[in-house]
Amino acid sequence: MNHVSRPSLSIAALLTLIVGCFLIQFTMADEPNSSPKSMDETVSECASACGLPSHVDLGGDQYPVVRTDAEWQDRLTEIQYHVARLQGTERPFANPYHDNKKTGLYRCVGCDTPLFSSTTKFDSGTGWPSFFTPIDKRTLGETRDVSYGMTRVEVHCAVCGSHQGHVFSDGPEPTGLRYCINSASLTFETAESAEAIKKLVEGWYQQAK
Ligand SMILES: [Zn+2]
Repeated sequence: MNHVSRPSLSIAALLTLIVGCFLIQFTMADEPNSSPKSMDETVSECASACGLPSHVDLGGDQYPVVRTDAEWQDRLTEIQYHVARLQGTERPFANPYHDNKKTGLYRCVGCDTPLFSSTTKFDSGTGWPSFFTPIDKRTLGETRDVSYGMTRVEVHCAVCGSHQGHVFSDGPEPTGLRYCINSASLTFETAESAEAIKKLVEGWYQQAK
């Protein structure tokens, strides 16, 4: 009788071995990647890897955040409304963030979407806050602007449509781009470090999911 039960025992042992191998593979695939990252990569990490918040559908015909003109005027100051909603430009140097060297996060004044990080800000000498990249290209829309006899690329918040400024191709490395932004289109939130900015960015991406 003994020799009859042996094959079933061997099959059980084989199954245990197979399941064991799968478990080991699964654990190894889950190992975190510990390669060093630059400050900008740290901040943009979630932005490029995370899905957009559930209220932000960028594939539709209209901006995800829509307000009436009265609501915009109520939410924004006169200069913010003029720049963000009427495609205006504030005066150079006479604006709050052109010389702001603090660490922190710049959000859209119209809807609080995180648009720029202090880790990508540089002194362009123009009198307007300048960055070499946005946090997430999905949330910063571009339009060809032919006003004032010039052809420029206008940039705006892709979530609420608020005008931000223009992007030029004379910026520093690593992108060679200069995002020339109006302080009036931004709010600023100070943070302790690049890691703390990343946490603020992640907070926006993870809302209402
Ligand atoms: Zn916005």
